[in-house]
Amino acid sequence: MDTRWMDHQLAEIKRKELYRTLRTMESAPKSTGILNGTEKLICASNNYLGLAADERLIEAATEAMRKYGVGSTGSRLITGNTAIHEQLERRLASFKQAEAAIIYSSGYLANIGVLSSLAQKGDIIFSDELNHASIIDGCRLSRAEKSIYSHVNLVDLESRLQQSAHFRRRFIVTDAVFSMDGNIAPLIEFKRLAKAYDAYLIVDDAHGTGVLGTNGRGTCDYLGVSPDVYIGTLSKGLGTEGGYVVGSQTLIDLLRNVSRSFIFQTAMSPAVAAATLRSIDILESEEGKERRHHLLHLSAHLRARLKEIGFHVMGDVTPIIPVLIGDADRTLVFAQRLQEENIFAPAIRPPTVPVGKSRIRICLTAQHSMEQVETIARVMNKVAQELIIFS
Ligand code: PMP
Repeated sequence: MDTRWMDHQLAEIKRKELYRTLRTMESAPKSTGILNGTEKLICASNNYLGLAADERLIEAATEAMRKYGVGSTGSRLITGNTAIHEQLERRLASFKQAEAAIIYSSGYLANIGVLSSLAQKGDIIFSDELNHASIIDGCRLSRAEKSIYSHVNLVDLESRLQQSAHFRRRFIVTDAVFSMDGNIAPLIEFKRLAKAYDAYLIVDDAHGTGVLGTNGRGTCDYLGVSPDVYIGTLSKGLGTEGGYVVGSQTLIDLLRNVSRSFIFQTAMSPAVAAATLRSIDILESEEGKERRHHLLHLSAHLRARLKEIGFHVMGDVTPIIPVLIGDADRTLVFAQRLQEENIFAPAIRPPTVPVGKSRIRICLTAQHSMEQVETIARVMNKVAQELIIFS
């Protein structure tokens, strides 16, 4: 096989300093972990409630594995469906206060499945410019027209909606919490626009579930909004893996029948489904409330401390705390210095974010302590002074 064109492509990626390599985690997810051989304070994980290595989830998974095996052996429609999968769907529907739910093997597949199934030729999808890659890919897979509005810009969205009367159906799709900016979408206003222009509102609450709202029900509960289609992932606040969609029974029945990323994907392992059920039990308990409270308290505290120091801190109340540095090279050096100080918080650079908007992205979890948060603030300050970030 002639691979010279691949070498050229890789050389180009390297020239732009965008070459990706893997980091190796050598320990279970906690606030600290062995990363590439040394212990670091981990400030980059989506394990928001700290449940990914919880003994109770491990026990539930082990029990299910003993009964059903490790692999699910087939798609949900052939041999991959068990009573645990069905129980999880019922539980997710009641957790999210919806009529019905369907689970996918990942949030990525859920987004692709929904958008490619619902939005068809003759329809239009309005999508935020900062939506997650899985939404972008879902839009690409659908045969509908795409209209990309500027980030959470209601004026831009409304003017696009005004010109869309000739489309058969209109869909507005948005992340509830933007993963690189840590901000919350104005869902109340989106819902109002959806109503006014006869559009469906599709929300991906990957980062809000488990973290915001009553019992961690998510961003829509937090803001008091009911979207038409509510998508999420189990891989962040819930500490396991997989994606889900909740909504009306008709919507869920349709997805089960037409959504290719559901039909042609091997079902999630029953062990993961069982662990997720246990995780929802914890979310809905007093302990879940305490974990959420601790996480949001730490996040608010770190935001305030970093602002006090002089950083430009982005986002809202979420545990995603992006700290704007600006220049891509400086941000990279900043992240490297943090690593030398045993803190892992990645540099986020173009093309993930616009030129001049590079940032250090800190993610907290309920496993962090106030002492660790103080360490993060102290080291961030030290590195900023060294690199003369505040002039
Ligand atoms: N949506 C958003 C906003 C995400 O951040 C992610 C994960 N990075 C996904 C969807 C995909 O979810 P999963 O990792 O379960 O495939």
